[in-house]
Amino acid sequence: MKKRILVTGGAGFLGSYLCEKLLNEGNDVVCLDNFYTGQKENIFHLIENPNFELIRHDIIQPILLEVDQIYNLACPASPVHYQYNPVKTTKTSVMGAINMLGLAKRVKARILQASTSEVYGDPEVHPQPESYRGCVNPIGIRSCYDEGKRLAETLFFDYYRQNNVDIRIVRIFNTYGPKMQENDGRVVSNFIVQAIKGEDITVYGEGLQTRSFCYVDDLIDAMIKMMNTEKEIDGEPFVGPVNIGNPQEYTIIDLAQKIKAMTNSSSKIIYKELPSDDPLQRSPAIDLAKSMLDWEPKTEVDIGLQKTITYFREKINNGK
Ligand code: NAD
Ligand code: UDP
Repeated sequence: MKKRILVTGGAGFLGSYLCEKLLNEGNDVVCLDNFYTGQKENIFHLIENPNFELIRHDIIQPILLEVDQIYNLACPASPVHYQYNPVKTTKTSVMGAINMLGLAKRVKARILQASTSEVYGDPEVHPQPESYRGCVNPIGIRSCYDEGKRLAETLFFDYYRQNNVDIRIVRIFNTYGPKMQENDGRVVSNFIVQAIKGEDITVYGEGLQTRSFCYVDDLIDAMIKMMNTEKEIDGEPFVGPVNIGNPQEYTIIDLAQKIKAMTNSSSKIIYKELPSDDPLQRSPAIDLAKSMLDWEPKTEVDIGLQKTITYFREKINNGK
């Protein structure tokens, strides 16, 4: 059935894919964004669609809308961007969650939170299952994001228990793909852009820290599945949190070498200082997503990277 769906952060990297997919499924989509890291370019192709609406708004402020579902993605996701104005980042996660949960409560909409693997901090358990409570520094340079997202999860569960708000939570692990911003600052886009331009590839620390990389299409499928699941666990609705990511794990130096080889680049790999609190090891346990959502990533990293390389090559060659 056709639904009216609000996507906050809808002009961002993940949000723009989500808006497009929801429109293709026949829904009305309201995209809300303050364009901090989002770009009009990401959603230009949707503007003419009569089922698409764009609202410039900051979720730190309340808003009155009538919708059936809310995907709450508004929040800068790259360390460079979320550390630029850390107080604002916390406000976006916390006040944004309160405003969106208040809206969901008023109009009885189901609301899904885009949470993050960062809630596990620098994990002592590997791979990370949802039951792991994390190891987060409350006063470090990543804390505005990590603690903001943790508190947002708390708010989601309190609105669920106290006000019966219909919630869902996904914990997203590093996701990449075409349409990431060239200057986004995250590792996949940095390395690809550097390799294509023949600039030094900047590995932070010794590059022995690990991450696992999920292709954007797989992630969007999982988000929509989680939003619409009616499954139960022990007689209660399955609301999450559920990890979404690709468990295949790479060291950052391996990723740099892989991208250098795939782009046939003459770039030099150089080492820069490791930012503080940079998690050493990260990989999702996805048993819950497999069993409850019948989901696992389909896109091999080599295929996803190739698509992303092709995207950036065209963009850079066209001087866009
Ligand atoms: P992104 O920076 O491309 O998108 C975030 C969007 O939110 C942007 O369009 C930005 O302008 C908007 N925004 C930021 N603050 C806002 C505010 N106060 N009011 C309204 N809009 C605001 O990042 P992304 O990669 O698309 O991430 C989307 C969501 O997914 C974020 O909540 C992020 O924390 C979460 N997430 C992403 C990843 C990933 O690897 N991409 C991993 C974990 C979690
Ligand atoms: N990183 C790097 N060089 C870069 C950008 C990132 O070595 O140019 C490293 C970063 O230190 C981290 C990993 O790559 O260990 C992933 O960084 P990203 O910012 O993509 O996401 P994070 O998982 O840290 O939030």
